[in-house]
Amino acid sequence: MSPMNVDLHSHSTVSDGWLDPRALVQRAAVNGVDLMALTDHDEVGGIDVAAEAAAEMGVGLVPGVEISVSFAGETVHIVGLGIDHRCPTLVDALAELRAGRDARAQRMSDELARCGIAGAYEGARRFARNPELVSRAHFARHLVASGVMPDVKTVFDHYLARGKPGFVAHQWAALVDAVSWIRAAGGIAVVAHPARYRLSGADMARLFDEFIAAGGEAVEVVSGAHTADEMRRFATVARQRGLLASRASDFHGEKESTVDIGRCNPLPADLTPVWSRLI
Ligand code: AMP
Ligand code: MN
Ligand code: MN
Ligand code: MN
Repeated sequence: MSPMNVDLHSHSTVSDGWLDPRALVQRAAVNGVDLMALTDHDEVGGIDVAAEAAAEMGVGLVPGVEISVSFAGETVHIVGLGIDHRCPTLVDALAELRAGRDARAQRMSDELARCGIAGAYEGARRFARNPELVSRAHFARHLVASGVMPDVKTVFDHYLARGKPGFVAHQWAALVDAVSWIRAAGGIAVVAHPARYRLSGADMARLFDEFIAAGGEAVEVVSGAHTADEMRRFATVARQRGLLASRASDFHGEKESTVDIGRCNPLPADLTPVWSRLI
C-alpha cells in the first residue's frame, strides 16, 4: 500500500488563495491527496464548504487556520489543525485580528502612492474575494496585473517585504494568544514554514521555547517554502524538541506556488507525523 498523501497547509479565496474552497478540494482530489487542511489566514469561513466538498470527493478534510503573530519584530505564522472552527474564543479572536487589516491596507496604499503607484488599495481589494482579508498577496497581484512589476515575487522584493517602501509594520497576535486560541478550539498548534523567518539564532530558539511553553506541539518540517537543507534543519529541531512534524505545501495557486497541493516531499521516516493525532 502506498503511504497516505497528506498536505496540511493550503489557502482558498477566503484568504489569499486563487481557488475557492470547493475548487481547492477538487484539485487536491485530482492530485491524490488523502488528507488535507484548509488553513486560510486569520479566517475559518471556508471550512464548511470545503468539508462538504471533501466528503463528496472522498478527501479527508482537517479544519485549520493560519494565524498571523508578531514575534521579535518579525511576522510569524502559527497554523492550527483539527480546530473546532465554531469555537467562540477562536472565532471572536480571529474577527478582531482581521479588523486591523483594512486600515493597514490603506496605509500600504498611501506608502505605495508616495512611490508613484496610485490606487493600490482599490486595486488590491478587487483581487480580494473576502473584503475582511486583504493581504499583501492581493497588492502584489494588482501591481502585476497593472504592469508595474513582472511577477509577484518581484513585487515583494521591491515593495512589500519588510524594509521595502510599501511595507507597513503591523501588530498581529501575541504568540501565546494564538496558541491558546487554537488549544481552546481543541486544535494542535504548528509553527508554519520556520525557515522563512528572519530571526537570529537566539530569537529562533526563543520562538520554539515560548511556543512549546504555551502548549504548541508541531512544526512544519516539509514545506513548499523550504529547501532540502532547511527541511533537514527543522527535522533536527523537531527531534531535539520532541515536536510532531507536518508536511505542508502552503499552496496558494498554480501561478504563485512552487509546490502543488499534495506534491511535497515525504517526511523523514523517524519523525512522528502530526496527522497521527488527526486521524
Ligand atoms: P499578509 O498576511 O497580508 O502580510 O500577507 C502575507 C502573504 O503574502 C503570504 O501568506 C504569502 O501569500 C504572500 N507573500 C509573502 N511574502 C511573499 C514573497 N516573498 N513572495 C510571494 N508571496 C509572498
Ligand atoms: Mn498567503
Ligand atoms: Mn504563512
Ligand atoms: Mn500559508
